[in-house]
Amino acid sequence: MRAPPRLGRPVARVDERDTMFARAARRPGTPAFDDYYARRPELREVDDRLRALPELCRPGGRHYAPLVCGQADDYFRAIEAIVPDAAVVETWAPLVREARDATPILRSLARALGASAAGCAAVDEAFVYTHKGRHDADYGREVALPHRWAVVFLVEMDFGTMQRAPRARVLRESARQYYRAAVMAKTVAAVLEAGGAGAKAHYDAHYDLMLVPLAVAAGLGELGRHNLLIADRHGTRVRIGAVTTDRPLAAAAPVSLGAARFCERCRKCAENCPSRALSNGPREPARGVWRWPTDVERCYAYWRGVGTDCGICMAVCPFSHPDTWWHNAVRAVIRRAPWLARPARLADDLVYGKRWTA
Ligand code: SF4
Ligand code: SF4
Repeated sequence: MRAPPRLGRPVARVDERDTMFARAARRPGTPAFDDYYARRPELREVDDRLRALPELCRPGGRHYAPLVCGQADDYFRAIEAIVPDAAVVETWAPLVREARDATPILRSLARALGASAAGCAAVDEAFVYTHKGRHDADYGREVALPHRWAVVFLVEMDFGTMQRAPRARVLRESARQYYRAAVMAKTVAAVLEAGGAGAKAHYDAHYDLMLVPLAVAAGLGELGRHNLLIADRHGTRVRIGAVTTDRPLAAAAPVSLGAARFCERCRKCAENCPSRALSNGPREPARGVWRWPTDVERCYAYWRGVGTDCGICMAVCPFSHPDTWWHNAVRAVIRRAPWLARPARLADDLVYGKRWTA
């Protein structure tokens, strides 16, 4: 079966309760636990096995490091306490309120807050979860997102730190960037609201919709073999944040970086994935979208074994190299001539190594 060149559009919405993080969050003895496994009894055994493994960032994981894991915890905990800077909101809200088209202002705001890239997209209902699943407090609540537009932005993860994947400092870097993305999301949402619009921030563990397809729709990158975003300049070394709004915005068009075609020949992430969770084969149809399948249970089991969020597939990707003129020159060549994927992959192996060693 030959994959079409375009990503396609999902034909069905996803229930957040079925995502790996939501399943891992279920605790025996809670109503959410009983409800979920009454509806999905076939997942009970595999999820029980995963729950029996050490928790992320807790003793028992192979790369558990108390100090570093404590710092990661601090970032995740601090996310809940973020309050947007009032001076920033007061400065930007009038600009948004008075603008005929707030799109460039919101993109500039995201960049001013530290985003490495920002774009706007129309919210496709297919990206919106059907039901909430991450937290017991709102488990099973139907998601009814009234917003038709979104501001989407990326934050860069540090290259040197990612080279230490799958060690604990990678999880700390993830937590740090989730924190930064949450600051940006809450601030952009506050500016929109103060400017008279309805808005909702989507950040770590507080998502009403899937951010990777939203980022693709906003022209921020392409979907890679590892089912992560591949962005210009930073490749997969990014975290995504978003704000949805009822304020009409000018949606960007998806971009072609040549990345998805490069992935057809590259396979470096799949070859280096320690859990064999990534596909070495061609794209397959899933919910109407042509993509490479990921075995999320294998991936997550590896995370629990090492006690971190791994990150090897992010770090090993040739698109994730630093934002330097020579790497960007290679990215520009790949964009125009994706058929150079094989020699580019060979060159990458020569310079950076074929096998991942941290
Ligand atoms: S490592 Fe290669 S195959 Fe995997 S996402 Fe990156 S470019 Fe695509
Ligand atoms: S995060 Fe690690 S285990 Fe999961 S798919 Fe990537 S390389 Fe494999």
